[in-house]
Amino acid sequence: DFDDDKGDYKIVFGDDIHYRYEILDILGKGSFGQVIKVQDHLRKKPIALKIIKSRQRYTEQARIEIELLKLFRNIDVENKYNIVHLEDDFVFRGHVMITFELLGLNLYELLKRNSFRGLSVGLVKRFSYNVLQSLALLAKNYVIHCDLKPENVLLSDTNLMSVKLIDFGSSCYINQRVYTYIQSRFYRAPEVVLGIPYTSAIDIWSFGCILVELYTGIPIFPAKNEKELINFIVEVLGMPPVSLIIQGTRSQIFFSDPSEKVNLLESNLKKAPGSRTIRSILKGADENFIQMIEGCIQWEPKCRITAINALKSPWFIENVETASKTTTRRCKISIEDITKHTPQLQKFIAGR
Ligand code: ATP
Ligand code: MG
Ligand code: MG
Repeated sequence: DFDDDKGDYKIVFGDDIHYRYEILDILGKGSFGQVIKVQDHLRKKPIALKIIKSRQRYTEQARIEIELLKLFRNIDVENKYNIVHLEDDFVFRGHVMITFELLGLNLYELLKRNSFRGLSVGLVKRFSYNVLQSLALLAKNYVIHCDLKPENVLLSDTNLMSVKLIDFGSSCYINQRVYTYIQSRFYRAPEVVLGIPYTSAIDIWSFGCILVELYTGIPIFPAKNEKELINFIVEVLGMPPVSLIIQGTRSQIFFSDPSEKVNLLESNLKKAPGSRTIRSILKGADENFIQMIEGCIQWEPKCRITAINALKSPWFIENVETASKTTTRRCKISIEDITKHTPQLQKFIAGR
């Protein structure tokens, strides 16, 4: 919704930024600005540079992004929690600029390059473990990411078997929630839609949605608007508990008076409430995987699994390799693809 080009930095290939960073390529474009690949002539290596739009709203939020990235850099000196490493930040020609370690493709691009056929359970499991480590560290420090989605999870440039979490441009501390309009719609938790004070559980909701998408290749709730989103969620989970509806400042947009039987005001259900189960969406997936996702995709934030507990789930304890062997059908990208065919795959996923 903030998708206009006003305030964008004008990128000229071959130009130097801050007398040090030579522009090589464009890596991505988001709502906050542009991310480019640059050659750092001081440290003599390629890195990623995020150029924030020069408008006040973005500049202020970028300050928070930088503060949080510095916090994680200090806590996570060994860089084992899979959070993108911030190198530097400065202002150049009125734009806040942030430099990062260079990472690889984002997971949306990875899915796209495999024609949305999804990844093997084994690979989903590896990536999930990485993301949960990041989420556990965030929750421990009372930070909510607020924009977890495949575009914000990137393959590590040096190790294709692991991913890192990026984009703290919408993040906040639990006790300093600024915005009510957060998260990308497909991954937006119901409490955000309904206008209920949110917690780290919104990241877990998004995480659950990502798990389904990585496995099937397609988003679980690809809604065009919030009413459709609520309809899609009802198809999977049934009607929300009254206890949740009565807390929401926006519940009356979607649901009838909760003192009577709860109904959708505008019902566009293609399936009966609760009939599109996670199990049916993931046909054939193993039980521990289904349970992990069911633990994340729950109406009630308090009932969702926490990152710390998810890391201890049986899904991670069962052998990763055995799990992946049963699921290399359907042209999904598997761990074996990544390990045995690294050169080809590297070429295949070399977006840059
Ligand atoms: P959003 O619209 O999600 O808020 P944003 O404007 O905050 O996006 P980022 O998500 O930080 O921007 O970056 C946009 C894209 O640029 C990412 O999805 C990714 O593809 C690419 N990108 C970002 N950081 C890096 C990096 N360190 N290495 C390689 N590519 C990156
Ligand atoms: Mg982003
Ligand atoms: Mg962002």
